[in-house]
Amino acid sequence: MARAINFSAGPAALPEEVLKLAASEMLDWHNSGMGVMEMSHRGKEFIQIHAEAEADLRELLAIPANYKVLFLQGGAIAENAIVPMNMLRGRSVADYVDTGEWSKKSIKEAKKYCNVNVVASSQDRGYSYIPPQSSWKLTKDAAYVHICSNETIGGLEYQWVPQTGDVPLVADMSSHILSRPVDVSRYGLIYAGAQKNIGPAGLTIVIVRDDLIGQALPVTPSAFDYKQQAENDSMLNTPPTYAVYIAGLVFKWLKKQGGLAEIEKRNIAKAKVLYDYLDASKFFISPIDKGDRSRMNVPFKLKDESLDGAFLKGAEALGMVQLKGHRSVGGMRASIYNAMPLEGVQKLVAYMREFEAKQA
Ligand SMILES: *Cc1c(COP(=O)(O)O)cnc(C)c1O
Repeated sequence: MARAINFSAGPAALPEEVLKLAASEMLDWHNSGMGVMEMSHRGKEFIQIHAEAEADLRELLAIPANYKVLFLQGGAIAENAIVPMNMLRGRSVADYVDTGEWSKKSIKEAKKYCNVNVVASSQDRGYSYIPPQSSWKLTKDAAYVHICSNETIGGLEYQWVPQTGDVPLVADMSSHILSRPVDVSRYGLIYAGAQKNIGPAGLTIVIVRDDLIGQALPVTPSAFDYKQQAENDSMLNTPPTYAVYIAGLVFKWLKKQGGLAEIEKRNIAKAKVLYDYLDASKFFISPIDKGDRSRMNVPFKLKDESLDGAFLKGAEALGMVQLKGHRSVGGMRASIYNAMPLEGVQKLVAYMREFEAKQA
């Protein structure tokens, strides 16, 4: 069986080693006589899986002790509502930075719950850059400042952490969490859907400073009240058990690779191969300002869009799939998360070079 070179933006490729281990444990996890999907979430086996996953995530990201780690359901889109419900804390204004499709979705949803102040936007140049903090018009007593630290569709990534003083910084890190070390203490709250860079869809990770929880709006569903979930070890409702298990295997895989500092080195090297080629090419273009380019999601365009179809077809014939850009921006996008090896990116660039040469 040949595995595809999968550039999907999400759900995305997982490390083969993890999938093989999961397959070998499908019918019988550690001599329990059960597969993980069949286990009670209250049983000792699953409680061990859950606790190890949390401990490994805490180790990988060096999460300080005063932060809660929650394994929830609902995805990042649900968090767009759950964040204001939990984080307004009696305040009426939240600041949002608009850097593209995912920020726009967060802003639209937050408007149901509070006054949203869009403190900066890069819409003026087609979301090709991240507005520098000097241009942000922050609200003095905002409940929080929200950013999307990696715009999965547009291909923008913060290479710096905003300074928000006493106002908590909230980040949607769905598509680059665990791709690089992060100073968690700079954030009030980090959230991420698992299906980009961690594991299966269905698991949502929330990392929140403990003094910020406990003041959710009274209408907040209990399953989405961070305080109630923290008090119940994320088991107020049934957690997405199999997704937690796979995420836990991915965390162990990351530790085995050398942790996030090593993974970051590899991700820098992978992205460089692709961006260097794009910058040298007369045929393909990267629409994003150099300093703000994402290491995880690389959008690019053919100067002659009429060749898009032929390009995708040729790629598929070589086993390279899911390179079509998001319908809102067109062109191509290569998502090169942790599980994509350098060889996959090299193969893509070799194909692009050959395609360009053929058209010249
Ligand atoms: C994929 C993605 C989402 C949406 O996640 P869902 O699991 O569909 O809710 C939100 N934000 C970012 C940055 C994403 O990449």
